[in-house]
Amino acid sequence: MKNKGILIVLSGFSGAGKGTLMRRLLELYPEEYALSISATTRQPRKGEVEGREYFFKSREAFEEMIREDAFVEYACYVENYYGTPKAYVEEQLAAGKNVLLEIELQGARKVRAKRPDTLLLFVTPPDAATLKERLIGRQTESMEVIEARLARAAKEAEGMEEYDYLVVNDDLDTCVEEMHRIISSERFRTNRNTQLIETIQNDVKQFSKGE
Ligand code: 5GP
Repeated sequence: MKNKGILIVLSGFSGAGKGTLMRRLLELYPEEYALSISATTRQPRKGEVEGREYFFKSREAFEEMIREDAFVEYACYVENYYGTPKAYVEEQLAAGKNVLLEIELQGARKVRAKRPDTLLLFVTPPDAATLKERLIGRQTESMEVIEARLARAAKEAEGMEEYDYLVVNDDLDTCVEEMHRIISSERFRTNRNTQLIETIQNDVKQFSKGE
């Protein structure tokens, strides 16, 4: 039987480069990863495409999905809803893919509570000055939104210790490889291989009895 994939939460400051990192990871290792597309009530940004960055929903439609229990988790962030649709995640994990969720801290906590074997990664630029620069450099947001996000970033920084690994995004290619190495190693954890361990233990027992 194929091993189930690993559920991976990727959080980090807005502007830390999470989106680019995930796209690179999928380009390099398309057989190993699947990206969960979230639903949101925020307006599409210029260049964003329905079903690629997000499934854009009205507040009513999103609330209907909440009632139908269609989310692994959902949260409110800067006055909009964001949620992870359940069906795709289940399907891809069963197919042996590592599923990437790009979600914020509240969502990360909820996923971990529901599924303790989720791997939590936090992406950060090398320092706070770079973060500010990248955030303003994007120029897709008003100053008001940028300020709200900076305030939110300060809050999110408080949760960094709750993550399993810190991923420092200085050089993109290096960072992608580091991330892939972390995830690949994770597959070998004893608690992700209980079936194999049991089989080996039983077989060894049989050998020792001279069979
Ligand atoms: P943005 O509006 O910049 O695309 O995303 C804002 C924040 O929402 C980011 O921190 C992103 O990680 C988070 N986010 C995106 N999708 C989801 C989701 O499905 N659930 C949760 N909890 N957060 C999400």
